[in-house]
Amino acid sequence: MSGGWAAKEFCDKGLKTLVLERGREVKHNIDYPTTNMYPWEFEHRGELTEAVKKENPIASRCYVFKEDAAHFVVKDKEHPYIQEKPFDWIRGYQTGGRSLLWARRTQRWSDFDFEGPARDGFAVDWPIRYKDLDPWYSYVEQFVGITGNKDGLPNLPDGDFLPPIELNCLEDHFKKVVEQNYPGRNVVNGRGAHITENREIFAKQGRASCQYRNLCQRGCPFGGYFNSNSSTLPWAARTGNLTMAHNTVVESIIYDEQKGKATGVRVIDAITKETREYFAKVIFVNAGSLNTNLILLNSKSGRFPDGLGNDNGLLGKYIAFHNYRAEISAEFEGLKDKSVSSRQPLSSYIPRFRNLKTQETDFLRGYAAEFSAYRSIHTNTEGFGTELKENLLNPQFGNWYVNAQMMGETIPKEESQVSLDAAKKDEWGVPLLSIRVDYDENDERMFKDFMEQFGEMYEAAGFTNIVKKDAKRPPGLDIHEMGGVRMGKDPKTSLLNKWNQLHNCTNVYVTDGACMTSTATQNPSLTYMALTARACDHAIRESKSK
Ligand SMILES: Cc1cc2nc3c(=O)[nH]c(=O)nc-3n(C[C@H](O)[C@H](O)[C@H](O)COP(=O)(O)OP(=O)(O)OC[C@H]3O[C@@H](n4cnc5c(N)ncnc54)[C@H](O)[C@@H]3O)c2cc1C
Ligand code: SF4
Repeated sequence: MSGGWAAKEFCDKGLKTLVLERGREVKHNIDYPTTNMYPWEFEHRGELTEAVKKENPIASRCYVFKEDAAHFVVKDKEHPYIQEKPFDWIRGYQTGGRSLLWARRTQRWSDFDFEGPARDGFAVDWPIRYKDLDPWYSYVEQFVGITGNKDGLPNLPDGDFLPPIELNCLEDHFKKVVEQNYPGRNVVNGRGAHITENREIFAKQGRASCQYRNLCQRGCPFGGYFNSNSSTLPWAARTGNLTMAHNTVVESIIYDEQKGKATGVRVIDAITKETREYFAKVIFVNAGSLNTNLILLNSKSGRFPDGLGNDNGLLGKYIAFHNYRAEISAEFEGLKDKSVSSRQPLSSYIPRFRNLKTQETDFLRGYAAEFSAYRSIHTNTEGFGTELKENLLNPQFGNWYVNAQMMGETIPKEESQVSLDAAKKDEWGVPLLSIRVDYDENDERMFKDFMEQFGEMYEAAGFTNIVKKDAKRPPGLDIHEMGGVRMGKDPKTSLLNKWNQLHNCTNVYVTDGACMTSTATQNPSLTYMALTARACDHAIRESKSK
């Protein structure tokens, strides 16, 4: 997702650009084998066999690891890693990475988020603020296509939105109850990377309006949602400046001590296992947070014996994630005269309301939540001929159901880290990544508060049969792992400066989740893309000024 943006920006500005991808090539539309399949065309009706699940205990905990999209998810045995503590590392090794699979939710950060570490005294201060990223959010949003409603909230800045996807009647009921009874709390239309209005910029990409099929993880024949395969990468290729090498594993970055900068990368052919070197003036590392940490840790030289740019020993440390463990569901017995017949690719969203202006709880930071509502339908498939037709045409509607999932910020800590295993290597001879990340007391307190606050709001909305669930999932399944190469003002306490350059090797930029100083509660990929576009602009300006 972020690397595609770097490719687009450099190619657009006339720079010859090489994208190195460890996985296979996946071409938009051509390599989406399941995109138009009906449920009955799948051998196992969309499910995976018990044998596949048993072989893949990690991947199969992810909801997209199903018969229609499992081919885009890394299987457990193919790319092992070490879990010092349980961590579900969900990856997609192919053109487009995990942009093929993502749930498309995108929200901007606000200054409540950028100022968090400085205000609350954890991690280090971000070297940028909202105003630095605001124009780059717009720049990315206009190209990607982001649906949303302009809500005018200080804690969730509005973007350059396409028309919103409507709330359904029960989401709307909950919105009214929450906003009338809980000042400062809001339920807003889902914000996400779906085209809801055709525009010239999307037509130029060969993309068109979302058809609400809600089968996005298969790859979308309309390009209705954003992924790198349908958007940034083909755009970059059309400039004639892009070369893309697949099945090419980046092993490390080459550092030239005499020149005092990085000169290229060492790669291993994933199929033949031959090694090669490529040389470049500027290198962007966008391997997807933890893999970016791995590459930098593995880039050892006389000048940097502990990994590229790692003078302060903090590379791989201060990893954080999102806490999605808490879920609260319920039933609603009203609105019996209404039902929904469309498919909604984005649910509604409740922005963070805790500890925004003052510290009001016994935990730091806060949580956002996604909220969805649907009505149960039962179709009687019994009978023959006319009776069967009548049954099929007249489904029985039951109660409405609602569900909210917490999206909690976690605190990056020094002990939350990744490192290279000293002995174990993968089949390409690259050291395995060892991951040590866990929940802490702050997460437990936040979990409790979410359940209390949502329980109360559910009761106020007249919801019944409230069920509070601790999904007990290990960290990682949120798929928002961040940090390890954090941005900061001071080279003694951070790895990257305000332009995402390594403090000590400025022609190497890191603009994926590895650069994140803290996590906020928002889905992070929009911020990775905006940071990438901003850093490319800086790199291009720098190279012109030399
Ligand atoms: C099911 C699911 C739902 C999600 N929902 C959301 C959401 O709603 N909103 C949101 O913001 N985010 C969401 N995400 C997360 C989102 O997909 C990631 O944040 C985003 O894709 C990260 O972009 P990236 O460029 O950092 O990495 P990726 O998209 O993962 O791309 C990294 C690329 O680097 C390649 N690579 C790795 N190592 C090497 C190497 N050594 N050499 C060469 N190539 C290498 C990989 O093969 C891959 O193609 C979701 C993810 C999943 C799987
Ligand atoms: S819901 Fe929209 S974006 Fe997703 S597959 Fe359907 S048309 Fe494509």
